[in-house]
Amino acid sequence: MNGKVFVVSGPSGVGKTTLIRKALENLDSIYYSISATTRPPREGEVTGRDYYFITDKEFDRLLDSDAFLEWENVYGNRYGTLKSEVEKAKRLGKDALLELDVKGALKVKSKITDAALIFIMPPSLEVLEKRRRARGKDEGNIEERRSLATKEIQQGGSLFEFVIVNDEIERASKELEKILKGEIQKKH
Ligand code: 5GP
Repeated sequence: MNGKVFVVSGPSGVGKTTLIRKALENLDSIYYSISATTRPPREGEVTGRDYYFITDKEFDRLLDSDAFLEWENVYGNRYGTLKSEVEKAKRLGKDALLELDVKGALKVKSKITDAALIFIMPPSLEVLEKRRRARGKDEGNIEERRSLATKEIQQGGSLFEFVIVNDEIERASKELEKILKGEIQKKH
């Protein structure tokens, strides 16, 4: 049976990573795809677990060798999904879960048409900004971030199959888990 590709997206700072990690605790059959990025690691982040933290030169080299399924520039840093990560999921007999910005998610959907797109929505833009500040995710200028988040929320709400409001982490992660399990069941 072919592996399914899940793409979880949402504005930067909405809490995607925490939600995903929680939902995947009970889902051994899903492999979390690790992206490559030129962004420096934040405190506590580990290469090979959170991202492959690489230099600009290494990113260029991967681009040259056509190693990416998709890549994007987000607030001045480059992020890319490695084809080898999706292949790894397949090799392990697992489904793959990609955590991407909205542009990247739509790009993946254009290439893998049966990918399931899940959007994580903040309860409001104000809450999103507060969370970003609290978590030190203040890259880019405020206006730029606000307009990108607004655009992403519009696109996510209309183009994605599933929308989860991250109002409360326990509830929202359970909802994500339920969606993932439901989609896995549909395969059988
Ligand atoms: P952060 O720097 O906060 O970890 O991520 C910034 C944004 O980049 C988030 O929206 C995250 O989902 C997105 N992102 C992470 N990895 C990738 C990737 O491989 N491709 C794309 N297009 N976006 C990514």
